[in-house]
Amino acid sequence: MSEIKVDLVIANAAEALTISGKQSDLGVIRNAWIAVKDGVITSIGSEREVRASYDISEAKMINASGKVVAPGFVDSHTHLVFYGSRVEEYAAKVTGINPKKLEELGIITGPNRTVELTRESPDEELLEQAKKRMLTMLEYGITTVESKSGYGLTTESEIKILEISRKLGEETPLDVLNTFLGAHGFPENKTKEEYIEEIINDMIPKVAERGLAEFCDVWCDDGYFTAEESKQILEAGIKHGLKPKIHADAYSYIGGSDLAAEMNMVSVDHMNFTPEEVMDRLAKTDVTAVLMPALDFAVGHKRPFQARKMLDKGVKVALATDLCPACYTESMQFVINLACRLYQFSVEEAIKAATYGGAKALNLGDRGILGEGKIADIQIWDVPSYKHIAYHLGTNVVETVIKDGKVVITK
Ligand SMILES: [Zn+2]
Repeated sequence: MSEIKVDLVIANAAEALTISGKQSDLGVIRNAWIAVKDGVITSIGSEREVRASYDISEAKMINASGKVVAPGFVDSHTHLVFYGSRVEEYAAKVTGINPKKLEELGIITGPNRTVELTRESPDEELLEQAKKRMLTMLEYGITTVESKSGYGLTTESEIKILEISRKLGEETPLDVLNTFLGAHGFPENKTKEEYIEEIINDMIPKVAERGLAEFCDVWCDDGYFTAEESKQILEAGIKHGLKPKIHADAYSYIGGSDLAAEMNMVSVDHMNFTPEEVMDRLAKTDVTAVLMPALDFAVGHKRPFQARKMLDKGVKVALATDLCPACYTESMQFVINLACRLYQFSVEEAIKAATYGGAKALNLGDRGILGEGKIADIQIWDVPSYKHIAYHLGTNVVETVIKDGKVVITK
């Protein structure tokens, strides 16, 4: 027996999903043991293998008999810092109400409503509302989350959102990666040209100088930013060390996904209108397609993205919640339910896209997998085999969540 003492051992798991196999192979280990030391996985395998390598005499033991152990979910696309809700809009729209009627009823719709509320909100309340959402995400097995700005649209309020987002990473167990998305829409008092100028020459330098974001993102769509404008903004981001991401092809095809391939972006997100030849191009790159079934569900999108085609072509795929006022869910499990039933993901592909795929969409090589040397972000599902995660609808099957080797949720 080795002298090296580990802190935590998960024993007897019915299945451990290492996620280390090819596309539809989750690398399942049955009757698995996992050892953790200083927040890192040191060993995963059989009881004999783990006991032979490490001294477990002082470790906290978790018995996962009859349960499934998986890496924490990595949610690579959210707009989680926002104030209030758009519940009245959602409730009215589910009946298929005519948009004119909404106006007559005085219900203000769309992201600008959220921009108004978010700009005016006291920092403390904005923080508390977002924190509550994040702690729900944690209960549902999400251990790393990306957070976009974009409900400010002024330099001051975009910075405020990113600063709150940073604080959320410090005040909750989750890891938060920030994305600057000043190009999410347009402020009411500026021309488009003036606003792009402000993004490039004021917002990006200030955000980068303060170390407030890892990524820069743009909403590239008809009526928003063109591919050419998106390129300008994202190149300015790159100059300041912000890696490019893009909202592309959600409601029209105007070249956003081509730009993602051309610039070899970290991710291309949405893709409802992406043509097959662009999927072929993307398959040859390292760009991850971030797909968000819950958003399409919540907005009743008329054109589903072609996930099966992308998967068959070998495009790298991530699943994300897209938590925002138009898609109010903290549950990656709900996203997996939808991905499997409505978008023809296999259960294995969906789980992989929500863990390894999410990490890849955030350029993180240290998580999304259960393996030696990886961060010990682990969840335990109270189900006898992993396929139940897709089968058991709308229910939280997560029993235990471990972040950086520490138990943060237990039921
Ligand atoms: Zn988005």
